[in-house]
Amino acid sequence: MWGLAARHDLHRDQDIARAGMRFGGARGLEKGGCSDMVRAPCRVAPGGNHQIRPMTRVLITSALPYVNGVKHLGNLVGSMLPADVFARYQRLKLGADNVLAICATDEHGAPAEIAALEEGLPVAEYCAKWHEVQKRLGESFHLSFDNFGRSSSPQNRELTQEFARALWKNGFLEVRTTRQVYSHADKRFLQDRFVIGTCPHCGYDRARGDQCENCTRVLDPTDLKSPRSALSGSPDIEVRDTQHLFLKQSEFSDRLRAWISSNEARWSPLVTSIAFKWLDEGLRDRGITRDLEWGVPVPDDIADGALKGKVFYVWFDAPIEYIGATREWADARGTPDAWVRWWRMPEAGDVTYFQFMGKDNVPFHTVGFPVTVLGANEGAAHPWKLVDVIKGFNWLNYDGGKFSTSQKRGVFMDQALELLPADQWRWYLMANAPEGSDANFTWEHFAGTVNKDLADVLGNFVNRILKFATARFEGKVPEEGAPGAAEEELEARLAALIASYTDNLEAMHFRKACADLRAIWVAGNEYVTVAAPWTLIKTDRAAAATAVRTGINLIRLIAHLSSPFIPSMSHAMLAALRVSDSHWRWTGDAAAELRHIRPGHVFDVPPVLVRKIEDAEIAAWQERFGGS
Ligand SMILES: [Zn+2]
Repeated sequence: MWGLAARHDLHRDQDIARAGMRFGGARGLEKGGCSDMVRAPCRVAPGGNHQIRPMTRVLITSALPYVNGVKHLGNLVGSMLPADVFARYQRLKLGADNVLAICATDEHGAPAEIAALEEGLPVAEYCAKWHEVQKRLGESFHLSFDNFGRSSSPQNRELTQEFARALWKNGFLEVRTTRQVYSHADKRFLQDRFVIGTCPHCGYDRARGDQCENCTRVLDPTDLKSPRSALSGSPDIEVRDTQHLFLKQSEFSDRLRAWISSNEARWSPLVTSIAFKWLDEGLRDRGITRDLEWGVPVPDDIADGALKGKVFYVWFDAPIEYIGATREWADARGTPDAWVRWWRMPEAGDVTYFQFMGKDNVPFHTVGFPVTVLGANEGAAHPWKLVDVIKGFNWLNYDGGKFSTSQKRGVFMDQALELLPADQWRWYLMANAPEGSDANFTWEHFAGTVNKDLADVLGNFVNRILKFATARFEGKVPEEGAPGAAEEELEARLAALIASYTDNLEAMHFRKACADLRAIWVAGNEYVTVAAPWTLIKTDRAAAATAVRTGINLIRLIAHLSSPFIPSMSHAMLAALRVSDSHWRWTGDAAAELRHIRPGHVFDVPPVLVRKIEDAEIAAWQERFGGS
């Protein structure tokens, strides 16, 4: 659907058909299915295809990183980085005003309380501190979220209470007396995840009481065999009576199944298989409150104050922060109502909403949060926007094992930036994103990818052309000569590659998109190698000038096309060419792009774009980060 809209949007400026551009339109048509249960019925043409709908806006959210400390590269590539790449691409296609990318730190819950205790800080101070650290690291990785918010914000508190009130009014919440684990050794009720034991489904012996990280099934602490406190390790725990609010998820099974089925064609099998597995096992009603102090308080007007002193479960308020962070963004800009048109129907009717997440988050985004939204939407004049496309990721492993925060195994975001610039990591991680299956990080593979793709192919191409042009054409784009057969062939090859690249970006097939982009760099390299202006200059100065002029324009086109993945290198290339990196719109019109910079234009030779990684460094890093 969005592919068609892109074509519609861009058609004003360019003859896209001539350029052979498809923008994923065919894929969009084949797989078109109305995914939005809230929206009025999609307009479907008699033939079954969607009519062109002027889809003009894209909303992107990344799963929220938990606030407790620096995230590792597996966390980064599992949601935040691909969300950023997709947002950068969409901005080039639709214009920045039509794209909103949102992330935040997930700050509530017992783990933050415990970590604050360990650091000797009040929990609010602890969260403020680590939010800042994560925000700064995200910016250093060039994550271009329009807002990186905080789930503990007043905006999220208000929205979370609003959702709960609507669910209560609509009869989807119920007060139930439950039995909760109390630890005598720790003198406190234990949060689900602080009860550990053996998973009844797969036998994993360190399953947490909320979810087994081995088989991803959602658990209740009382499901565990041999339960014990994760805090003290004490088995001296007992189950006591306490009252909690329950969300009646079981009433939504059929609706969720219909919704997920309708999206089967365009969500990845990873996402739908996890969602269906959950539904097949039968949806249980879910407790959404906890005996904690740190969190969004249950308002007194729910259940006549019976839940006084309790807070909402972190998994209830965290996804609502997608909206909360949008509201924070709107408030910060001084346009407090601007969030509404992204989230509430009918104002958000032209928004397509994409969510990015690791596979452990899929159950909460295919069942938990949709139930919250659907339940609150009943009878609402301005229903909430439901997600259109969920992009899930498998795990990135570290040298054959898991990245581990507790064991400090693997590379964390702050360490990565001490070693190398962000773009090297961005490129490697996205080119090897764990899409179809888990992926494995090794230092050899990382160094090989960076050295070959970024240094040998891309960096070499840029420096070769600009150095030669400076030496032989006084640092100006030469005027002589005219494009011939070699340039026509290059244009045709680029047009086909850009079309494929665009299709893969539309479909969020990031590994394939990276392969296409690499092929574009290779095509540029091959063109100048074959044209060989350094040889031609001795016999045919005009032909050499044509190759140089085409090569310089190629650098500009490549810089723009590469910017979603390697924004800093892209910026460096454009700065060397002394051309602006704003206002460029995504295009497949290679012929026009290769004639854009006019003769006489002055440029600079940039410093080496990418330094090669040495064997000695690989060995040192393996040692330092626990790789074998
Ligand atoms: Zn399990």
